[in-house]
Amino acid sequence: MIPRTVARITKQKWNAACGNALIWRRSHARARHSLVDCRSDTLTKPSKEMLSTALNAPLGDDVFSEDPTVNKLQDKTADLFNKEAALWLPSGTMANLVAVMAHCHERASEIIVGKESHLTLWEGGNISTIAGVNPRQVLENNVGKIDLEDVKDVWRLDNDDHFAKTALVCIENSHNMMGGSALDKEYIDELGFLAKELNINVHIDGARIFNASVSLQTPVSDLCESADSVSICLSKGLGAPMGSMLVGSKEFIRLARRARKRVGGGTRQAGVVAAMGMYAIENNVDRLAEDHERAKRIAIALKDNGFYQPQDGHVDTNIVYFGLPTDCKLSKEEFTRILKDEYGVLVGYGYSRGGELFRVCTHIDVDDKDVDHAIESILAVQAR
Ligand SMILES: *Cc1c(COP(=O)(O)O)cnc(C)c1O
Repeated sequence: MIPRTVARITKQKWNAACGNALIWRRSHARARHSLVDCRSDTLTKPSKEMLSTALNAPLGDDVFSEDPTVNKLQDKTADLFNKEAALWLPSGTMANLVAVMAHCHERASEIIVGKESHLTLWEGGNISTIAGVNPRQVLENNVGKIDLEDVKDVWRLDNDDHFAKTALVCIENSHNMMGGSALDKEYIDELGFLAKELNINVHIDGARIFNASVSLQTPVSDLCESADSVSICLSKGLGAPMGSMLVGSKEFIRLARRARKRVGGGTRQAGVVAAMGMYAIENNVDRLAEDHERAKRIAIALKDNGFYQPQDGHVDTNIVYFGLPTDCKLSKEEFTRILKDEYGVLVGYGYSRGGELFRVCTHIDVDDKDVDHAIESILAVQAR
């Protein structure tokens, strides 16, 4: 016998119940997976082992240069890059800003920088608004390289009252907006050679320099040999909660240290976080190769299923940009919402060369199962 309550269920209620069951099934499916957050490689959380290094780190006042843990990390990083000195900073943005301030210590300077670089697009215009430096922007090619002819074209002396004098050229390695492409040593050496001829310096925004180094199988000391300075993020793929490093000559680091103080970046017992940065450099560099494999897997799966990819399935490091297949009916907001709410997969947006694309980053908190789930989910959502 059918219970009265069930018999009395209206069609409307039945549909609602089915809907609920569907939602339950989906959220249940999600519950089996923790969130897979591929928006950025900055989202990594420090592991227990990493956190425990903070508890045991000897500390001092870093504005006095008396924090032994910071000093140790600075020495270690300088050695690793084969540069004279290094400086710890709270963020990558500050590392780039301070680098530009140090290179452009002389006022009325300008720098040559990529139009699609992080420095140009994502740092609040700080080199002009804070450092008082004029950016000469040139467009990188589709693997993130600035053409050497363009550098020659825009380079200027102060031999004309109209000119700001060029002090620096900046490149980005790996190049975020150009799909995490890794710039090879040969190119950097050629740029370095030209820069010497023009009497300007070379700065590498190496937020992901270890990704580039692992991908190219070139040690950072070789890769950055021709650079006068490099900024390095500890808080991206390396998994530290915060912190960046700057390396260069003793004199450059002296000026950078002064600039860091001026922008309020002198911190006290920074060894608490520097200890975690040390752990990141000692333990999390080689494993970046896994992130690159996973990113490749995602890129190939998307390419095989009709998604647009500016790099056409080619991935050097841990970043994949993609657009939805042309027959997909979802808006970008619907796509990301469904992917997040029903599958627990988070992807970011990227704005590269005027186009709006999605961005997937692989990192230490995304494993093979997560990648399988992300691929399956992206394919399932676009097929709606
Ligand atoms: C993230 C990033 C930075 C800045 O690092 P923050 O620590 O977020 O300030 C600089 N350059 C590139 C290429 C980046 O990806």
